[in-house]
Amino acid sequence: MNLEQVLKSKFGFRSFKAGQKEIIHDVALGNDVLALLPTGGGKSLCYQLSGYLLQGTVLIVSPLLSLMEDQVQQMKSNGEKRVVAINSFLNYQEKEKLLSSDLNIYKFIFISPEMLQVKRWIIKLQKLSVGLFVVDEAHCVSQWGHDFRTDYLKLGKVKKVLGSPPCLALTATATKTVIEDIKNYLLLTSPNEHINSIDRPNIALKVEKLKNNQEKRMRLLELLSQFPSPGMVYFSSRVKAEEIALFLEEQGLEGVAFYHAGLTADQRILIQQQFLLGQLNVICCTSAFGMGINKANVRFVIHYHQPTQLEAYVQEIGRAGRDGEKSIAVLLKSDEDSMLPHLLIEGELPESVWVTAVMNEMVEKWGTISTLTEEIWNDLALRFPNNEVQWRYLSYQITYYIEHNGPISKINLKSGVSFVINQIEKRTAAKMTKLQSFEEWTQSKACRRKAILGYFGESKVSLVENCCDNCGISLEEYVLSPSNGSRKDDKANSLSWERLLEKILVQDIHDEK
Ligand code: ADP
Ligand code: MG
Repeated sequence: MNLEQVLKSKFGFRSFKAGQKEIIHDVALGNDVLALLPTGGGKSLCYQLSGYLLQGTVLIVSPLLSLMEDQVQQMKSNGEKRVVAINSFLNYQEKEKLLSSDLNIYKFIFISPEMLQVKRWIIKLQKLSVGLFVVDEAHCVSQWGHDFRTDYLKLGKVKKVLGSPPCLALTATATKTVIEDIKNYLLLTSPNEHINSIDRPNIALKVEKLKNNQEKRMRLLELLSQFPSPGMVYFSSRVKAEEIALFLEEQGLEGVAFYHAGLTADQRILIQQQFLLGQLNVICCTSAFGMGINKANVRFVIHYHQPTQLEAYVQEIGRAGRDGEKSIAVLLKSDEDSMLPHLLIEGELPESVWVTAVMNEMVEKWGTISTLTEEIWNDLALRFPNNEVQWRYLSYQITYYIEHNGPISKINLKSGVSFVINQIEKRTAAKMTKLQSFEEWTQSKACRRKAILGYFGESKVSLVENCCDNCGISLEEYVLSPSNGSRKDDKANSLSWERLLEKILVQDIHDEK
């Protein structure tokens, strides 16, 4: 089998990117494969090309709605019509139509992990012969990855129910623990592992310390008016993403939009499309934006707020420079925001008081619990309002407890509650440790690239010309000039942030906590 020929005829590419061929070769032989390729390394092609070599349907589990829509569109525009996405974006009629149609007509089916928990879909999928079970962004299975998704943890079972087809797990984030989690949760006993370097040599790394948030805001404005677009600015708060986007517009920057999970699905798809089609210069977003997004020419990723761990940081900056061209990642830090990541971590998981109250009520009202039925769940959710992630987390832990210790009743309620609280404490502590490593990285005077690679267990670091601020980078090379791009909107171009600050004299608006 000549893989290059298939690559040329199906995708129009002349050669493989590093690591792709070995992965595809292995998958085509029917092996289970765990593959690590850097952000932008061409992971989608690995399952797409393999799919053409294998019999049966390729089922791709993908974490985000917007990502799935993007992939489906790309494949369609590449001439592949036999592709469909099953997710909550389908309306009732579309779902029913798909459920009553013959799914065999599709070669590639994208599906969310949540949909794989819906019985009707599983029954439907069981009728197919699945030739390859793909888990994209596979680090999502790991509670030590940056995105703990409880439905991801059930994928191993789903795979079994679908007849244990060969599995391809793809990710750009994998510490040793994450790799172990992926293998455990996806029931991969002895997969062939293709671990490639996660380094992105064309992305320069810079951390800038600002005195306060007002300075940070002005520095952001200055950078945005100097860097060639398009680019992304990350925030850890929805409100802040919106607020700064408006501020930037007011200051005369054109083509600025914001994106976060509080927007409707339609709005999100629209903004994502606008960004992908080059109609936007800057997108102010939360972590909800960007996973798997394939936009080649993002020139910079600025963090207005830092994520809580290096895993997430590497993913997010990896959205820059997928075309291989020179790009830059700048992390802006101010002491005023130093507590924000701590608060985020603490707020991610339920509080002990809430857990105790919910579980007490559960047993009080419903007696011995051997399964958490929807009825119980909905009733509790009504009386103990909380966000969906926390509910899902609690439900997962209670179910886990029941599976391993039997039903929860008045007698063992105390032990059940302690189990859940203990899990929360352990996980929060682990997250704090990760945050600590990230903090150390931001404050370090040593090579940032080397430190990132070291964190992911890589020891070989190649020499990079514009590596990081600690090794020395010339920022001028990244600033707009006639030779490295242009932008319609460069009104504020020649102003330093101090001058801008004087000129605008905006009221200091404190960041939300
Ligand atoms: P990721 O590894 O981040 O999922 P993608 O699969 O989105 O990366 O691919 C990134 C880009 O690389 C896409 O534009 C894709 O078309 C392109 N690409 C993938 N494989 C090749 C190749 N062999 N030659 C050239 N471009 C490729
Ligand atoms: Mg991808």
